[in-house]
Amino acid sequence: MLKDFFMGLSKNQFLNTAAKKYGLKLGAQNVVAGTNIEETIQSIKELNAHGIACTVDNLGEFVYKEEEAIEAKEQILNVIEAIHENGVDAHISLKPTQLGLDIDYTFCFNNLREIVDRASRYDIHVNIDMEDYGHLQPSFDIIDDLSREYDNVGTVIQAYFYNAQENLEKYKNYRLRIVKGAYKEPKEYAFQEKKEIDSNFVKLIEWHLLNGKFTSIATHDHHIINHVKKFVKTHNIPNDKFEFQMLYGFRRDLQLQLAKEGYNFCTYVPFGKDWYGYFMRRLAERPQNVNLVVKQVFNK
Ligand code: FAD
Repeated sequence: MLKDFFMGLSKNQFLNTAAKKYGLKLGAQNVVAGTNIEETIQSIKELNAHGIACTVDNLGEFVYKEEEAIEAKEQILNVIEAIHENGVDAHISLKPTQLGLDIDYTFCFNNLREIVDRASRYDIHVNIDMEDYGHLQPSFDIIDDLSREYDNVGTVIQAYFYNAQENLEKYKNYRLRIVKGAYKEPKEYAFQEKKEIDSNFVKLIEWHLLNGKFTSIATHDHHIINHVKKFVKTHNIPNDKFEFQMLYGFRRDLQLQLAKEGYNFCTYVPFGKDWYGYFMRRLAERPQNVNLVVKQVFNK
């Protein structure tokens, strides 16, 4: 019920526009690193000081106007320059719909190509985040097209999709982030039960750790993290073949602990004015996060 409620709110255009205008509210500042690049670089430096790498996401998705997509591209190019200039340990995560996938494939591809090209000059990796099912295949097509020229590209496999294993095998030589999946998907394409999703998630992680190039295990689920720790030990998988990832502001103690234990750790650092949809999806995933909102409203 609550999940559907927040998923519905995440797509509300009116609230989205209002949120951009009025800045970080409702506790979003706890899970969004800042509204501009300077604040974000500062947050990255603080995480780097604890041995934590970062992947930076200029918030925004489902863009339908060319000028907005171009604005997003320019901002991401500025982030790449800032990462390079500040010498921080960070790479880029981006969403194809922010760069115009719903407007035109070639327009979006050209925006992405410019970003990947700039990042490749500085040896910065670019992760193409995966969105909902309708954008899955075109996003893989973009990756295929980019890979003809560049090798600094990776992507995401969402464990709730029935075709996740197939895509995992196809893209095994990429740096892959494996996640449970964040969008509401119909049963025609995706597992609905948590138990089934979790079990597929573990299966995909194990397969990629044994057969893939580099695995980013992106989850806040300590059961799965503990399972992975045992699995890599049993199978002698070296630490440089994988990393754990979590979102900025979530389970900070666990993030620090894993880094301290010597595991590679990467925090997903979202920033920008377009925080609303991202924040609502986090509330949908874990209604306990509403505590963030409640605390914020009453601690004025
Ligand atoms: P959940 O299933 O949400 O939680 C499992 C258990 O973990 C909970 O029952 C609880 O015991 C514990 N737990 C979880 N959160 C907390 C907490 N905050 N405090 C204490 N205990 C907690 N999705 C996409 O569809 N596409 C993407 O490109 C994508 N990229 C992502 C990148 C990163 C770095 C991360 C972390 C997630 C990404 N996701 C993406 C979202 C992902 O698909 C899940 O929706 C999200 O991570 C929630 O699932 P979970 O694995 O964290 O665990």
